[in-house]
Amino acid sequence: MRRYFIKTFGCQMNVNDSEILAGILEDNGYALAEVPQKADIILVNTCSIRQKAEDRAYTFLRELKKLKKTNPDLIIGICGCVPQREKENIVKQLPFVDLVMGPQCVDDFSNILQEIEPNKETQFYIEEKGRPRKIHPTKRAKSPRAYINIMYGCNNYCSYCIVPYVRGREVFRPSKDIMEEIKKLDKSIHKEVILLGQNVNSWSEGDKTFSDLLREVHKAPGVEWISFMTSHPKDMTDEIIETVAKLPKLNNHIHLPVQSGSTKIMKAMNRKYDRDYYLKLIEKIYKKIPEATVTSDIIVGFPGETGKDFKDSLSMIRQANFDSVITAAYSIRPGTKAAAMKGQIETSVKKERLQKIMQVVQDVAYQKNQKLVGKTMDLLVEGPAQKGKLSGRTRGSKIVYFDGSKNLICQIIPMKITSAKSWVLEGQRT
Ligand code: SF4
Repeated sequence: MRRYFIKTFGCQMNVNDSEILAGILEDNGYALAEVPQKADIILVNTCSIRQKAEDRAYTFLRELKKLKKTNPDLIIGICGCVPQREKENIVKQLPFVDLVMGPQCVDDFSNILQEIEPNKETQFYIEEKGRPRKIHPTKRAKSPRAYINIMYGCNNYCSYCIVPYVRGREVFRPSKDIMEEIKKLDKSIHKEVILLGQNVNSWSEGDKTFSDLLREVHKAPGVEWISFMTSHPKDMTDEIIETVAKLPKLNNHIHLPVQSGSTKIMKAMNRKYDRDYYLKLIEKIYKKIPEATVTSDIIVGFPGETGKDFKDSLSMIRQANFDSVITAAYSIRPGTKAAAMKGQIETSVKKERLQKIMQVVQDVAYQKNQKLVGKTMDLLVEGPAQKGKLSGRTRGSKIVYFDGSKNLICQIIPMKITSAKSWVLEGQRT
């Protein structure tokens, strides 16, 4: 039997694409290989959001070259965001790669699989225009959380971001396909549905809004929890906040990337809101959903970021009382507007700011988590954790470690929080 191995870098969108690729491979008679050495086809699903992510994918791919010596018929493919804009560079740097496939072509992978041959010239499958993914035989992880893509691409052109160039403009999946995919989930495993997209709030279908879609998913039999990500603050409407507040299956975790605390930098980033707007939005969320977990993304060292702008980002974390923030130093993405901006910040300054901001994020998260100690909350059990414990997530996506038996995995159980650190809570079954 022929075997496959997939290595995934990047976001949940890529994780879901890899699940689809695995499903198509299995539908074509392939079985999973535990290690790349045992595979007949290896796919590397790449991310180009930051230079580091790209570098890691290239390093992994270079390592694979030696496998061709022991298995000359091995097919090595690179897919995801990197091929979309790095076509020539891939051939130059990795001439041994057989397949280069952009994210738009996942739908055609079953046909591509029939065409691809090892040890020929590199074969390219790249499409510029995005299209809504069809329904495929997806090979999902045995996780209680199931990712369902509802849209692809992005129209926002934030000045630092490569996504609109590699994933194309927004295309929305029809609600019929979304609901069909949710219907097919094995509900004894998948208790939570996570609706995915670069900007889920902008999903629409005729008169139907994202809130209408949330209401439709809420009616799906067997679905117990519903989450979504990522939201753009400019598209987070009162109606969405009300819907989350009202519908019992909707989780109270809202990921709302702010990217900077400074109005000047938000403008340079082309985020289309200012500090005042964002803070008012946060206030509204906490008012309607008092138990909300609010997380965010912040970039430090964006071109032109002064010490004062950076301090605005630090105070934003405290004022918004974020539960967690994914922080990153600005990374030049060739082809974006910010790459050509004046006032690029030195690496040493970016590193120093990153250290400082991570400390503030940690302190705020610690303070916020202390308020959960003594409370009892529902926990969706995910799997084994360190030191023989189990791990699960609350409805606010907080990780909780506790003692329990493995048959609790994929169950929702009440949990008393006994202690809290910045990133992990400890709990006891009640
Ligand atoms: S909203 Fe901005 S940061 Fe997010 S994917 Fe679109 S362009 Fe990139």
